Amino acid sequence: MYDQIIDKDNKNSALSVSKGKANAAMVNSNFKVIKRKELSADDYLKGIREGNRTILSKAITLIESNLYAHSVLAQKVIEKCLPFSGGSVRLGITGVPGVGKSTFIEALGKMLCDEGHKVAVLAIDPSSQRSKGSILGDKTRMETLAQDENAFIRPSPSAGSLGGVARKTREIIILCEAAGFDTVIIETVGVGQSEVLAHSMVDFFLLLQLGGAGDELQGIKRGIMEMADAIAVNKAEGKMKEISEIAASNYRNALHLFPMNENGWSPKVYTCSAYTKDGIKEIWQCVMDFVKMTKQNGYFYKNRNEQNLRILDESIKQSLLDNFYNNEEIKKELDIAKDDILDNRMSAYIIAQNLIEKYFKNLKQ
Ligand code: GDP
Repeated sequence: MYDQIIDKDNKNSALSVSKGKANAAMVNSNFKVIKRKELSADDYLKGIREGNRTILSKAITLIESNLYAHSVLAQKVIEKCLPFSGGSVRLGITGVPGVGKSTFIEALGKMLCDEGHKVAVLAIDPSSQRSKGSILGDKTRMETLAQDENAFIRPSPSAGSLGGVARKTREIIILCEAAGFDTVIIETVGVGQSEVLAHSMVDFFLLLQLGGAGDELQGIKRGIMEMADAIAVNKAEGKMKEISEIAASNYRNALHLFPMNENGWSPKVYTCSAYTKDGIKEIWQCVMDFVKMTKQNGYFYKNRNEQNLRILDESIKQSLLDNFYNNEEIKKELDIAKDDILDNRMSAYIIAQNLIEKYFKNLKQ
């Protein structure tokens, strides 16, 4: 085809084509270039169901990607995994930095893996997108657990917003369950709304605390105590044992003042040491008792259904909001409206009403 474009016989042409060497020998004739095959949604499903870690990790990377093509494929993979999901115990663990979350998770995770459980550890780290340094992710974490063939550890996805991280984490739970993990631990740090989000995707929520950290009951947000199904006072060994027992007893008294939970469960308080492993077994037994009781009284399933319906609700709200605020005409009108409000020319309520009417009217056209 080039013959038509290039006049090969014209010696003056800068476009002369060198003959080259036909069939240049390969460095190693046994070496074949293997072209990387793009995996289909079915390939992903097969790999995940077979417990292939590399494929599971790749699928999670797809979920975490912000590329449109990746997210389309990721949604297909999630959809295929959904029928195989739901079979794990989802445990949320929160507490301030330094309380011992990763050490505790490593101790608990190792105990479970040794018993033959398959444990996935995920994280929700609100700092991972706001600042460069993340609270949970930067440390080399859970090295012993990470090497266990029954464990799978994944740092927090970073996304544009905490809502984005939450969504991705929920989707990653689905994949992990389809891959056969029977225990999914979601670790989060007590910052902002991250515990609320972690709580909204787990069956059981554990709050780790420290004894002797001053007036224990003042230091934590009441809301977090209300969400907790159990509180464990960690580092309760040696000299700290007695102080931790006192703290635990204070928490027990405080929890008595809270109204009874809808699920019929009264939150338990423990002391433990992630170092000596004391108390870890008892805490896991507590999770098991909770799961057994709430499965019997139906709350376990009701809670999961409500969590799913809440996702539907939140997704609709979010996509309506995005659509509204990204509408070019609305953007212009909003700029003008802001001046009207600042100059006290119009009420914000009236402007909001007008804008919404305009938005829906435009949609109909
Ligand atoms: P995280 O920030 O909540 O994940 O806390 P880490 O697990 O990183 O632990 C913070 C520090 O507390 C580390 O130096 C741990 O070695 C230490 N630590 C964790 N658990 C215990 C425990 O049970 N007893 C004692 N004495 N120290 C602990």
